[in-house]
Formats: sequence, structure tokens, C-alpha cells
Amino acid sequence: MDDLAYGKRNKRGDWAPNEPAGTAPLFFFPPQPLTFLKWLPHYFLPYNLLFAVSTLVWWNYVLPDVETMKTLGVAWIAKLYIVNLFAVLLFFGIFEYRLYIQRAQANRFKYNGKWPSDNKSDVFWFKNQNTDSLLRTVFHAIPIWTALEVGILYAYAHGYVPWLSFASNPWYLALIALLVPVIHEVHFYLLHRLIHTPFLYKHVHSVHHNSVNPSPYSSLSMHPVELLGYLGVALWHLVIPSNTMLALYQLHFAGFGAIPGHIGFDKIETGENSTMDTHAYIHYLHHKNFEVNYGDGLIPFDKWFGTFHDGSPEGEARMEARFEKRRAKLNS
Ligand SMILES: [Zn+2]
Ligand SMILES: [Zn+2]
Repeated sequence: MDDLAYGKRNKRGDWAPNEPAGTAPLFFFPPQPLTFLKWLPHYFLPYNLLFAVSTLVWWNYVLPDVETMKTLGVAWIAKLYIVNLFAVLLFFGIFEYRLYIQRAQANRFKYNGKWPSDNKSDVFWFKNQNTDSLLRTVFHAIPIWTALEVGILYAYAHGYVPWLSFASNPWYLALIALLVPVIHEVHFYLLHRLIHTPFLYKHVHSVHHNSVNPSPYSSLSMHPVELLGYLGVALWHLVIPSNTMLALYQLHFAGFGAIPGHIGFDKIETGENSTMDTHAYIHYLHHKNFEVNYGDGLIPFDKWFGTFHDGSPEGEARMEARFEKRRAKLNS
């Protein structure tokens, strides 16, 4: 497929889409009902639906019954860790294998002209971004993910927090389920702003930013403190009256859902003339430029606070002017 029909490639080999990145049409003024209706299916497809399905699968086939959850048994916790690990490695791995190992679509629609595996760097364990990301996923991300999951199940099973049933609270819980992506966006934005403050950036968030050119395996490559904060979004379901399954959905949304922003390609070719949009551009620009796009664009926080970068030359100029202003302020 000719990616130059959809974007441009510069001298360095970096490809950028012609269409600037946009935020979801939720707060447009004046409201644009047609744009909203056209966008609405993207709220569910493909990611949200996929993580809702994965939640149901875990609920029915992976998690133990409520009686077992009441005791912290090695067997069910180990099983949970292993299933989580293999699911993440498989899910991220499908994208990693096809796009970065097989290089099935070469550099078509690829934002960064370079391949992470060609750039050895001292910032990574064993100087390799992929090795570093994989080890951090195995030894940090999935243990923390599983620990949070176990803690949540344990709290619900013991009745420490209200466990609302779908039968008695169908409308309320449907609303919470619908708001899972919104809860994620608000939590992620606030956490992300916090860890970009100098001390936390230096000691915590810089680990994730080592991947200037992220690939799918970079998705959960974070410092343990950041992982706790990021995956800890599921703990909101111990604060608001909710249901165990929705807490699990929130966790899957954060864990499996870390991948879209780190795919590194704007579109994935699915056939001779068909592609799938990855919605990765907003977060890719964050990895590239650091101090733009703290959110993922579901709620336009970055537009409201002047940090949005849509990838266009005008957006680049706005960002440079902002950085210049800050440098001048720091120097004065
Ligand atoms: Zn990232
Ligand atoms: Zn960041």
C-alpha cells in the first residue's frame, strides 16, 4: 500500500500523516452531532470491546470462585500471574512480531524511520530496548498487575467494599462500565502530569521515556512506582461503589490497553487494500517531544492546558514557541 497517499516522509525517514491528530469530539463547541455519531463506534471498537471480552474470559476461565479468593493461596495466584504474563506477551507479541520482527509492512506508516533493535543504548538493560522492555514486563509489570488484581479480588470477596450486583443495579453498573475509558483518561492524565515533575521524572518516569522510539513491548516498560500508579487505576472501583468484574475491566483496559500508543505505526495493513487505524499518533508525539500530549485525547485536557500537539507543522511551531518561552523564563 502507498503510505505517501496518506502522509509524508522526511529526509530522516520519519513518516507523518497528512491528517493532524485530533481529540475525541466530546467537548466540541458548538457541538457537532454528525462528527460525534461518526466517532461513536470508535469509542467501543476495537479496543474497548476487546478488553471487555478479555474480562469475561478471565472471569469465567481464569479467576477462582469467590470462596477461594478469600484466601491468598499460592496456586491460584501463580496461575493468575502465568496467564496474565502469557496473555500480555502474546497480545503485544502479535504486533511486535508482525511489525518489528517480520517487518511485514516494512516502514510503511511507520512514524520513526529507525528500528529500535538497530539502536543500542546504554540506558537499556543489556543495551537493548526490547530486552529491557521484556524483562521489565516479566519482573515488574505483571507481578504488580497480578498483585493489584489479587488485592482487589480479596477485598471484594471479604466484603470490605460494596459488591453491587448487575441484577439489582443494571443501569448504574452499565454507566460505570461505559465510563471505564473516561476514568482511565482522567487518572492517566493526572498521574502523567505528576510524574513529569522534575523529581519524579528523574527517578521514575524517565524509565518509560527511554523508549523515544517505542514498540509494542515498550507499552508496560515502566518503573515499578509508575506501574503501581498506572495500573492502580483499577483501585477506583474500591472507592466508588462498583463490581469486581468492572474493576477487572478497568485493569485490563490499562494493562492490555497500554499498547495502542506504542505501536509506532499509524496504520496496520490488514490486506492488499485495507488497513486498521492504531490511534497511536498522539502518544507517539509524547514519546518524541516529551512535554506534549500528556493525555490520550479522549478528554481534551491537553487542548485546555495548551500542551496539545497534533503533529502538523503549525502544531510543531506552537510547541517550539512554548518551549522557547519556558527557556527564556528559566534563563531570566
Ligand atoms: Zn508511553
Ligand atoms: Zn511521559
